[in-house]
Amino acid sequence: MLLIVGIIVTFVLIVVFSNPRMRGCRWREDRRAAPGTYRCAACGAHTVTADGKPPRVCLADQQPPR
Ligand SMILES: [Zn+2]
Repeated sequence: MLLIVGIIVTFVLIVVFSNPRMRGCRWREDRRAAPGTYRCAACGAHTVTADGKPPRVCLADQQPPR
């Protein structure tokens, strides 16, 4: 059972780190805006998180082109 869980975790990690949208996204807190507002230094995406922590995904494909 533990082996199966380990395989699944390894597979998920491979998928996450091989996903190009997850790379290069560097979230910076925008202190001029509301608390929990983050701006991606890589793609310029803006988002607000409910828990005040940086998002773990890149939102580049959800932003209108500028
Ligand atoms: Zn980004």
